[in-house]
Amino acid sequence: MKIRRKGKISEGEWVILLDSKRRYLIQVERDKVFHYHKGFVNHNDIIGREEGTLIKSSHGGALFIFRPTFSDYILEMPRGAQIIYPKDVATILIWADIYPGARVLEAGIGSGALTIALLQAVGETGIVISYEIREDFAKRALSNIENFLGKKDNHILRLKNIYEEIEDNNIDRIILDLPEPWKAIDNVIKALRPGGIFLAYTPTIIQAQKTVEALENSKNFTLIETIETLLRPWQIEGLSVRPYHRMVAHTAFLTIARKIVPIKEENISLKGEPSEEIGENLEID
Ligand code: SAH
Repeated sequence: MKIRRKGKISEGEWVILLDSKRRYLIQVERDKVFHYHKGFVNHNDIIGREEGTLIKSSHGGALFIFRPTFSDYILEMPRGAQIIYPKDVATILIWADIYPGARVLEAGIGSGALTIALLQAVGETGIVISYEIREDFAKRALSNIENFLGKKDNHILRLKNIYEEIEDNNIDRIILDLPEPWKAIDNVIKALRPGGIFLAYTPTIIQAQKTVEALENSKNFTLIETIETLLRPWQIEGLSVRPYHRMVAHTAFLTIARKIVPIKEENISLKGEPSEEIGENLEID
C-alpha cells in the first residue's frame, strides 16, 4: 500500500486524527470503529472525506482528519535502529545536494527513513542503493518504504558490510549512517565519482573527528566540514512568546566532503574553506 498524497480519503489509507492535545495514526477500514477517551468515531465517517475536515466523536470530541506527512510517518513507523530526525533528513538532502536523477548510495538502511527521503528526492530517474548488514532491519525497512512510496524499482538493497566492499561505482552521492564511517572511506573513494559528495551522520564528535581525519589523510577530498542542526520550536501564545522549555538538544553531527580527481603534487593544500553561510565565500566574477 502506498500513502496517497491528495484526493478524498479512501478505504485502507492511513490517516492522522488530531485533537487539541494528541494525534492518533489509524488505518481506515470499512465498518471499523476508532475508540479514544472522548468516545468513538466510525471509520465509515472518515471514508470519502477531504483532508482537513473536522469530525465529531460520540462524546462531543472534535478531530481533524489529515494524511500523515513524511515527518509524521517516519516518527510513527515501526523501527528497530535509531531513527534519523526530520530536521537532520532535511539538512542531509540539501547539504549532500541530492538531486533528481542522482545515483545515491547509503548505509545502513536502518528503518528506511532516510531511504524514503532519498527516493523522493532522486525521483523516478534516479537510483538509491542501500547497504545493510542486518537482514531483519532490511526487511522492516523495505516494508516501511513500500508502505509509504509503494513498490520502487529504482531502489536496490545489498545485504553487505560496506566496510568490506562497495560493488557499485560512478556514484554521485554517498550517505553513511553507521558507527564507524571512517572504515568505509577507502571503498567510498573507489565508488564515488569525482565531484561527488560524501556525508556521514554521527551522534558523537569523536566519530566526526575520526571521519574528518580519514577524509583528510586520504587526500581525495576537499570542502570537508562538520555541522549540526539545532531546531528550536517557539511558543507564540498571547504574552507567552518564547522558546518552548524543551527541545531535542542533540541528535548528530553531519560531516560533508567533496571528492576530487586525485592529484600528484604533494604540497597542495586540500583544505577548502567551507562556508559559514551558504555562498558567503563564493565569489562570482
Ligand atoms: N538511516 C537509517 C538509520 C540507520 S541505523 C534510517 O533513517 O532509518 C544504522 C544501520 O547501519 C543499522 O541498520 C545497522 O545494521 C547498519 N550497519 C552498521 N554497520 C554496517 C556496515 N558495516 N555495513 C552496512 N550496514 C551497517
